[in-house]
Amino acid sequence: MSKNKTLQAIRGMNDCLPNETNIWQMVESVLRRVASNYGFAEIRMPIVESTALFKRSIGEVTDIVEKEMYTFDDRNGDSLTLRPEGTASCVRAGNQHGLLYNQEQRLWYMGPMFRHERPQKGRYRQFHQFGLEAFGIATPDIDAEVILLTSRLWRELGINEFVTLELNSLGSNEERANYRDALVAYLTERESLLDEDSKRRMHSNPLRVLDSKNPQVQEALADAPKLSDYFGEETQAHFANLCARLDAAGIKYILNERLVRGLDYYNRTVFEWVTDSLGAQGTVCAGGRYDGLVEQLGGKATPGFGFALGIERLVLMLTELDKVTNVRAQVDAYVVILGDDAQIAANQLAEQWRDQVPNIRLQCHCGGGNMKKQLKRADKSGAQIALILGDNEIAEQKVMVKYLRGQQDQQNLAFEQIPSLLTTLIEDV
Ligand code: ATP
Ligand code: MG
Repeated sequence: MSKNKTLQAIRGMNDCLPNETNIWQMVESVLRRVASNYGFAEIRMPIVESTALFKRSIGEVTDIVEKEMYTFDDRNGDSLTLRPEGTASCVRAGNQHGLLYNQEQRLWYMGPMFRHERPQKGRYRQFHQFGLEAFGIATPDIDAEVILLTSRLWRELGINEFVTLELNSLGSNEERANYRDALVAYLTERESLLDEDSKRRMHSNPLRVLDSKNPQVQEALADAPKLSDYFGEETQAHFANLCARLDAAGIKYILNERLVRGLDYYNRTVFEWVTDSLGAQGTVCAGGRYDGLVEQLGGKATPGFGFALGIERLVLMLTELDKVTNVRAQVDAYVVILGDDAQIAANQLAEQWRDQVPNIRLQCHCGGGNMKKQLKRADKSGAQIALILGDNEIAEQKVMVKYLRGQQDQQNLAFEQIPSLLTTLIEDV
C-alpha cells in the first residue's frame, strides 16, 4: 500500500459516528433499564477467550466454529478467539467465579462480537449484541419471564408491531437423539434431493438440515418425522406451561417446528423474534434454554435460559421505520459570547449553571466571531436556546435568551432566572 493512502477500517467492522451514537445510546439505555426492571445485573467479560471455549460450547459442526471465528495464536502460541457470542464466556465466568452452582443468577452483558461472515446489510464482522442469561431455574416460569422481557423491549422501542415471535421446543437430549436417528434415516432415503450443505450436515448435525433456506431441500423435508412426536411428558408439560403463560400475557407467537438454532447447546425452549422490515437479515433476537451447557464447560449441572439480540439490526429497524424518538440533541443550550468582559464572565456563569443543573448540555461558543456566526453555530448544535452574553448584558447582570426552535419572542432574563429556564428545557428528556 502506498504510504499516503488513507487507511481504512477492516471490512465489515464499522465506525459509529456521532450522528448515530445518539440512537445507540438511546437503545442501550432502554436495554439496560428493562434488564434491571426484571432483576438482571450486568456482567462484563473479556473480548478474547481461549478457542477451546467456543469449540466446546457452540459445537465443532456449526457455521460459527467451522467458518466464522477470528482465531489466532498469541505470542505464547496459545490459540485465542475473538468472541463470536457471549453465552459461552458468561458461563465460563460464572463457573470460574463460583456464581452458578446452587444459586440463581440473572445476568446481562452488551458489547462487540466477531464473526467472519460476508458483510451485507444487517450482517457485519464486528457487531454488537445485548445478551441476557438466567441460571439455576429449570421451570418454564423463567422462560416466560425472559420472553416477556423481550416483548417489553419492543414496546418501549416502538417496534412491537414489526416483530413476530417464533417458538419451538427441541426436547431433551435423549428425545433429540432418538429423533435424530429417525431424521437421518428419512434423509438417507432422499439424499439425492439434498444440496451439498445438507448432505454434509445430514451426518454431522442433521437437525440443521431442517432450517435449510433452500426451497428444494424444504420440499424434500415435507414428510419428515416431527421432533414433537418424540417428546416425553416432561418436555410436553414444560412447553405447554410456557405457551399458557404467554397466552395469558397476551403475547402472540407462531409455533415453528423447523426452528432449531445454529448453536448446539440448546434444549427444550428455543425462540426467535423476526421481522420482515430488514430483508434477509430478519432475526433480531434469538435464544432459548441450555440446561447442559454449564456442565459441558466443566461446572456442576445448572440449568440456563437466555437470548442475544443484534443491536445493529435494532438500530437499522428504528431508523428505517422512522421510530427514532427520545433522542436528545447533543446540546440543549448554546452560550453566545460577544465582547471582552463577556468572555471572562461567560465561563464563570456557565460553570455555575452546570453546577446548578447537572444534566444540562450546555455548550459555550469558542473561537470568537460575530453574532451571526455564533448563532449559526448555535443552530447547528441542535440547541433549543441561545444564551446571549454581551458586555451590556454583563453590566446589567442579564442574559438575552433567543429561542431557536419555535416562534417564541426573545427574552431578557436576570442571571438567577437561567437555572430554572434550563431545568424546564430538559424536563421531558
Ligand atoms: P443469523 O441467522 O442472522 O446468522 P444467528 O443465528 O447466527 O443469526 P445468533 O448467533 O443467534 O445469530 O445471534 C443473535 C443475534 O445477533 C441475531 O439474531 C442477530 O440479530 C445478531 N447477529 C448475529 N450475527 C450477526 C452479524 N454478523 N452481524 C450483525 N448482527 C448479527
Ligand atoms: Mg449466523
